Amino acid sequence: MDDFIKYNYHAHTERCQHAYGTEREFIEAAIRMGIRRFCFSDHVPSPAAPGYVSGIRMRMDEAKEYHDEIKALAEEYKDRIEIFVGFEMEYTPVYFKEQIKLIDSIGFDFLILGEHFWTTEEDGPWSGTPTEDEERIRAYVDAVIEAMKTGRFLYVAHPDIMNYNGQDCVYEWEMTRLCKAAKEMHIPLEINMIGMKEKKQYPSKRFFQIAAEVGCDIIIGLDAHTIEHITDVENYKECVDFARRLNLHLIDGSDLL
Ligand SMILES: [Zn+2]
Ligand SMILES: [Zn+2]
Repeated sequence: MDDFIKYNYHAHTERCQHAYGTEREFIEAAIRMGIRRFCFSDHVPSPAAPGYVSGIRMRMDEAKEYHDEIKALAEEYKDRIEIFVGFEMEYTPVYFKEQIKLIDSIGFDFLILGEHFWTTEEDGPWSGTPTEDEERIRAYVDAVIEAMKTGRFLYVAHPDIMNYNGQDCVYEWEMTRLCKAAKEMHIPLEINMIGMKEKKQYPSKRFFQIAAEVGCDIIIGLDAHTIEHITDVENYKECVDFARRLNLHLIDGSDLL
């Protein structure tokens, strides 16, 4: 399969409570599709405020089993495909230290940044909530830049999740800041396949026009939550066409790990 993704860093497991299918089924589908490297990056567990239980991520005490199970599969399938295990993580300053401590103690392969919230999940708002408030987009961009500066993130998933509908000049100013920081730190930005499939606010044409002007590295990510997401050739083509039309510098991600 020449016209499909070869190196994918973005996939989830049932532990996040909104993905379906076993890790083995995901891996078998990836092999059928000719994927060379398939990485799991499930939503990172978060300590959260007392009494708050997340419905979109694994518990802290599930992280080790998640890691061990995927490492066992990586060993089992090593002659057919490369498998790595990481997390998609928000940069949440109040929890970051505790989360990193857990991750480092278990020994994960990589992190991608998915800034679904720039404060905490329990306080919100979700970054995709439509807003005209320029304080929000500024806070989002500040958080993404801070996160990149930690040096812990391989790339930024759906950097265009922020759903700002205020003045164009504000959007352009803030997202140029984000793109320039990513370019300086050599951190790729993701075209998210689920967003393309489900016609979400991302991938955003106006965002990637800025990324093209700045000259950022761009990578495509499956963001697989189901087996169907791993076999959607049409959707992949649409993402490649999107990148070509905007003259983006697309990388395959083969040298990220
Ligand atoms: Zn998810
Ligand atoms: Zn994801």
